[in-house]
Amino acid sequence: MLDAEFFRRWMTATAASVDREAERLTALDSPIGDADHGSNLQRGFKAVAAALEKEAPGTPGGVLTLAGRQLISTVGGASGPLYGTLLRRTGKALGDAAEVSAEQLAEALRTGVDAVMTLGGAAPGDKTMIDALVPAVDALGDSFAAARAAADEGAVATTPLQARKGRASYLGERSIGHQDPGATSSALLVAALAEAAD
Ligand code: ADP
Ligand code: MG
Ligand code: MG
Repeated sequence: MLDAEFFRRWMTATAASVDREAERLTALDSPIGDADHGSNLQRGFKAVAAALEKEAPGTPGGVLTLAGRQLISTVGGASGPLYGTLLRRTGKALGDAAEVSAEQLAEALRTGVDAVMTLGGAAPGDKTMIDALVPAVDALGDSFAAARAAADEGAVATTPLQARKGRASYLGERSIGHQDPGATSSALLVAALAEAAD
């Protein structure tokens, strides 16, 4: 079973890896965006880690809803409300249980990813974070490691796609040949989940 401490580890591991990879995320956002994805998420997850240290919610749902709120209020770019919605809606779906199973987490994450698709209007293949998140949620029924591998593959597979949502879509065909920054950071989020489970 997964408790609040597990979810806190997931969020702090994400903050650490976003911090490590911030330059790379911003570099990916340079040819097909406005070169701020790394700094956006760095600021957001720093706030998440600080809030969790201060408040330490006692349930998995509480940890994720607090994290989501922080992202929404501190990240100005498109990715803030989208990641904020992902975590908030996943947290809400977990309710106020003190511990949840991996199956319950997979189901709740599915609800969160669906909410991101509703909010942003992106579907798989549009070259967004959805291209890493959907395969990860599909694989989560097998294992955390399988979800991590699926998210990594999904992120790499955005390279030959033409963007249909977000800033990169303004470039039309010129968005082809670049890996999507948001799909890349989603793979970091899923990798941190697998790390927390180790
Ligand atoms: P901004 O584009 O506002 O500068 P960021 O650079 O932080 O925001 O985030 C860009 C990422 O957000 C993209 O790489 C993409 O993965 C994701 N994104 C943008 N628009 C959408 C959308 N409508 N649905 C899903 N993801 C999106
Ligand atoms: Mg950007
Ligand atoms: Mg921006």
